[in-house]
Amino acid sequence: ARRSWRERLSGSGFAKSLTSLFVRHPKLDDDLLDELETSLITADVGVEASTNLVEDLRKRMHKREFADAGELLKALRNELVSLLKPVEKPLDVSTASPFVILTVGINGVGKTTTIGKLARRYTDEGRGVMLAAGDTFRAAAVEQLKTWGERNKVPVVSQGQDADSASVIFDALQAARSRGTQVLIADTAGRLHTQGGLMDELGKIARVMKKLDTAAPHEVLMVIDGTTGQNAISQLRQFRDTAGVTGLVVTKLDGTAKGGVMFALAREFGLPIRYVGLGETATDLRVFDAEAFVDGLLP
Ligand code: GDP
Repeated sequence: ARRSWRERLSGSGFAKSLTSLFVRHPKLDDDLLDELETSLITADVGVEASTNLVEDLRKRMHKREFADAGELLKALRNELVSLLKPVEKPLDVSTASPFVILTVGINGVGKTTTIGKLARRYTDEGRGVMLAAGDTFRAAAVEQLKTWGERNKVPVVSQGQDADSASVIFDALQAARSRGTQVLIADTAGRLHTQGGLMDELGKIARVMKKLDTAAPHEVLMVIDGTTGQNAISQLRQFRDTAGVTGLVVTKLDGTAKGGVMFALAREFGLPIRYVGLGETATDLRVFDAEAFVDGLLP
């Protein structure tokens, strides 16, 4: 499984930059550290985090802690893992039934695809799954969700166009409760006329759900596009408080030069990273594993 993370991540600009650095620069010296700092900053790890990390490694190098570049690489690996380890907290959907996941995020980040992949995962685990087509602003989103539902033989609750999102999700929760469904995954709009409108709607959805189940939603899962780097950070800042985000999915980490955003997210928010998207197929949504991720980036 570890090897497959590497296969998926090796094509990303971030992995290429880190790998080529140690090939081009096999010697342990200050130039190596300067270039490492550039690689980290370019990948959106964040300026402060990158400089802190590199200065720490530089001090250790000057104290002759590392015999060669290979030993520095090992120390770097351990530092990177320790930055991500605190947010490696898998989602346990067995703590409630139905366990309600409200997915939020801006259009285009991979939200619908992620819902489809999660439906597949939980179905494979033998759980009864239901989807709620709460993105009522985009007909295409409802259709896409229905396609995923048919493919995975999972019921999709929807209403006509321009239906009220809170009403669709309320109906779905009612249906999930009466049918004994174990996991309900609700989609929401990724854009309304104003950002305030979107946040009001998310608040309304959560409020209406609580009329049926005071603990719902059990997870507010925000889907973030890993290729957008620092933009992802400002999106999360907006959603965190108003939508009460409890967990993250970072998509499209295969192929991107901005994968360093994972470290910036971990550092700034400390929110659990539940899953990461390493490709477009159902099995490419992985439970986040800090070691596997870091090992996939480094030579
Ligand atoms: P939504 O608007 O947020 O619902 O976005 P979609 O689910 O329609 O996804 C937008 C595009 O991103 C689609 O072409 C997906 O196949 C693609 N996508 C989603 N997740 C990943 C991923 O992890 N890796 C790659 N390479 N593409 C992804």
